[in-house]
Amino acid sequence: MRSDFLPFSKPSISEDDINAVNKVLRSGWITTGPKVSEFEKMFCDFIGCREAVALTSATAGLHLILKALDIGPGDEVITPSLTWVSTINMIVLCGATPIFVDVDKDTLMITAENIEKVISEKTKLIIPVHYTGAPADMKPISLVSKSKKIPVIWDAAHAAGTMYNGKFVGSEGTSIFSFHPIKNITTGEGGMICSDDEELICKIRRLKFHGLGTDAYDRKIQGRSPQAQVIEPGYKYNMTDISAVLGIQQLVKLEMFNKKRTIIAEEYLDKFSDIDEIVPLSYPASISIKHSWHLFVVRLNVESDMTRDMFMYKLKEKNIGTGIHFLPVHQQKYYAETLSSKNIILPNTEWNGDRILSLPLFPDMTHRDIDDVVETIKDILK
Ligand SMILES: *Cc1c(COP(=O)(O)O)cnc(C)c1O
Repeated sequence: MRSDFLPFSKPSISEDDINAVNKVLRSGWITTGPKVSEFEKMFCDFIGCREAVALTSATAGLHLILKALDIGPGDEVITPSLTWVSTINMIVLCGATPIFVDVDKDTLMITAENIEKVISEKTKLIIPVHYTGAPADMKPISLVSKSKKIPVIWDAAHAAGTMYNGKFVGSEGTSIFSFHPIKNITTGEGGMICSDDEELICKIRRLKFHGLGTDAYDRKIQGRSPQAQVIEPGYKYNMTDISAVLGIQQLVKLEMFNKKRTIIAEEYLDKFSDIDEIVPLSYPASISIKHSWHLFVVRLNVESDMTRDMFMYKLKEKNIGTGIHFLPVHQQKYYAETLSSKNIILPNTEWNGDRILSLPLFPDMTHRDIDDVVETIKDILK
């Protein structure tokens, strides 16, 4: 058994990153300023999108988009239940109703076919997830969106560096990225909205900072004009320069990080190929993709009565950390009690919800770490 605990995720922060943050701290300007503008521009250039707005989190981005699209009581938003809770929380906090769509059993992503089935007159938005860093099959979903005139917001929290048919996720349409410490690059906490919709971006820029027509920082005048007035009541979701400088440092290394993640994931896939009880995910067929390997999710498929939770506990006892991405939202206490459950039929979501776990995967993992995970799993399954 290994002597130290192996977490399922760990950010890669270098001395250079720390020094860069230090410099901002000493500069006299630590909130939204030149580093935020630079990070937004770099992210835009990297992804190949028209506009990018840096925020305090992806959740903040979701909230702003729902508000900018004027989604509220009486409106329905289509989303998977197998996603991070923040999407559903934001929909509900806006007064709208989440409409859950089942996922494909092996990619764990929602499909155009299932989306189409639940579209109603009340549907105002579709939020698919690029789950674990593979892209959702975007083309058929975009076609449904166009033909029904319902916008799509891509949850790209897992998908920094993911490609779909030769283009980066985020380069077209509107997408939200997250820079939470477990994500492929981090700013401590943070998020980015990428969009080619200038009108939407204009509203987002206003709503992210009190509804004033401006940021805290204006490059020309070194500080917001004291005369700036509220155009509409807004929020306080602007990223700080302390976070943005870390983002700049990390973005330069994103492709290197993802390459390391890919090597680890491929080694896992190879080593698990002869272990029947460990079932990795598959990716949408018939499209060309580049996986960013945000997570390595497997399904525990055993004949014995060992549950996934017991299996995770046994791994923890052997100093191997794991996570669950995600517990289906419709089964969580508040939502199980408040949503009318008779309409919620999500067999693939529930089957996977009982079996998925995320194994350790982060750029600084060693071959030794991978062996520890695989050998410990084999031991427990024996
Ligand atoms: C992490 C995550 C989010 C939220 O990101 P934050 O930056 O923490 O708000 C949203 N959706 C998915 C699928 C995520 O994994």
